[in-house]
Amino acid sequence: MPTETFEFQVEARQLLRLMIHSVYSNKDVFLRELVSNASDALDKLRLAALRDDSLDADVSDLHIELEIDSDARTLTVRDNGIGMSYDEVGQLIGTIANSGTAEFLKELRESKDAAGEEGLIGQFGVGFYSGFMVADEVTLLTRRAGEEKGTRWTSRGEGTYTLEEAADAPQGTSVVLHLKPADPDNQLHDYTSVWKIKEIVKRYSDFITWPVKLVGAPAAEGAGEGTAEGEGDGPAEPETLNSMKALWARSRDEVSEDEYHELYKHISHDWREPLETIQMQAEGTFEYQALLFVPSHAPQDLFTQNYKRGVQLYVKRVFIMDDCEELLPPYLRFVKGVVDAADLSLNVSREILQQDRHIRMMQRRLTKKVLSSVKTMMTKDAERYATFWREFGPVVKEGLVTDSDNRDAVLAVSSFASTHGEEETVTLRQYVDRMAEGQESIYFLTGESRQSIDNSPHMEAFRERGIEVLLLTDPVDEVWVDAVGEFDGKRLQSIAKGEIDLGVQGDEKPAEEREKEAEEYAGLLEWMRERLDEDVKEVRLSSRLTVSPACVVADSQDLTPALENMYRAMGQ
Ligand code: ADP
Ligand code: MG
Repeated sequence: MPTETFEFQVEARQLLRLMIHSVYSNKDVFLRELVSNASDALDKLRLAALRDDSLDADVSDLHIELEIDSDARTLTVRDNGIGMSYDEVGQLIGTIANSGTAEFLKELRESKDAAGEEGLIGQFGVGFYSGFMVADEVTLLTRRAGEEKGTRWTSRGEGTYTLEEAADAPQGTSVVLHLKPADPDNQLHDYTSVWKIKEIVKRYSDFITWPVKLVGAPAAEGAGEGTAEGEGDGPAEPETLNSMKALWARSRDEVSEDEYHELYKHISHDWREPLETIQMQAEGTFEYQALLFVPSHAPQDLFTQNYKRGVQLYVKRVFIMDDCEELLPPYLRFVKGVVDAADLSLNVSREILQQDRHIRMMQRRLTKKVLSSVKTMMTKDAERYATFWREFGPVVKEGLVTDSDNRDAVLAVSSFASTHGEEETVTLRQYVDRMAEGQESIYFLTGESRQSIDNSPHMEAFRERGIEVLLLTDPVDEVWVDAVGEFDGKRLQSIAKGEIDLGVQGDEKPAEEREKEAEEYAGLLEWMRERLDEDVKEVRLSSRLTVSPACVVADSQDLTPALENMYRAMGQ
């Protein structure tokens, strides 16, 4: 098979151009990305071997190697993991599948200023391509475990890459970076320096559960840390650079925030810091440890079918699966992290997970733990909570409908825009606590935006009388208000529905005056009824308007307009 030349997909080309001409200051992260990929590849192979006895793969000594060649000025990142087939290399390396990255590129096209560019690059995972920040040529040699032939991929990052078969490739993948000349002024360090490589691995990849070994390092630089006996006795044992300590198994005061954040980035493929780190250790008959993260931004596909939810499942430090959905309910689908259970079988399957009662118990406890952490955030750090709620409130509120066991806990961390203030959201507790004497209901109005609600004629009487109204603008709001029904004995009442008695608020007109008005307008009302017969059920005088002459009101059993739209959109 001859060497074939291909063009990168448009997005990939754009990303590469950015990498090559990057103004992005922290170029060291390329190594984190390549080590992260290698680690994933080892996880995948171990799992594949576990699932399939007949897989012809060597899993006896899975590890990652870093090799420095100062003369050739290359740095190689090698793993003996799952590898890629010829077709996979073309698909995985030649295109950008990661939706986060696609989103990043879109934002970038829209932003167009260099400062914004740097900020954006810092926020999104760029994966394999980040190698081109430090190398002017990258060669990847790979063989998929169980297959005979390997593949060689080469590119200078300038629009095209080549693919060819490689008969002699070992199992797994090696990425050879032909390093650019060091340019310390531009944060381009000398990546043939043993010291530098050690430092980067320690900083970004220490928790990786596979050994990251340094091979072929010049002895003079590599020695000195108590390993002097290796000198003169032939090649020294390759040094393992990472501690491989599972962060979730360590107590919180032993681990720095940075270490947690690096783990988060590794498992979530998000480059931004998480908003919150949650740790939990359950002891007793069913032991497990969890390290969960709340991201600082909602991913764009959170409300789509494609969204991959779930946490990583480990069994006694052995990676079992990504996206384990059974451990958290759908309304906490934005939570990322690791759960390591001591007493599950390594062979555990999705079907078993769905039925296992321990898994259900774990889900219950993890759910409570996440909700209580949000509660703490709410009381201790209002600003962080505000970010949380802005990003994830619309998802969390689904729990008010779907998780009746935890409804109170979900409600306790929920808050809503209100006429009380422009910026802050309020909880139902706060609303009820400042309700005026005699007010029996919690009033709300749903709509598409705060502005459309504010302009609604329904608001007039409430504004006039200074009665607080919750302004609900998420589609799910239509549903949870019915599911929840009341809070602290006060009914949740839409101000767009039915007859609302604001009489208790004091300024209702006396009965005789109302009767007089009724007589006076009887003719007009009759005329309007005839005219609007097709469109409305009833026309009546109202005390709820102060400025607008008329408004349309739904019966209390009727669907609100937004809900009508929602059902219509669902084809019902
Ligand atoms: P991401 O890791 O976010 O998926 P990358 O650009 O880092 O994005 O990698 C793209 C894909 O290429 C990976 O998802 C994986 O399928 C494949 N890949 C990269 N490196 C390796 C490797 N060392 N071994 C096997 N597959 C790899
Ligand atoms: Mg990656």
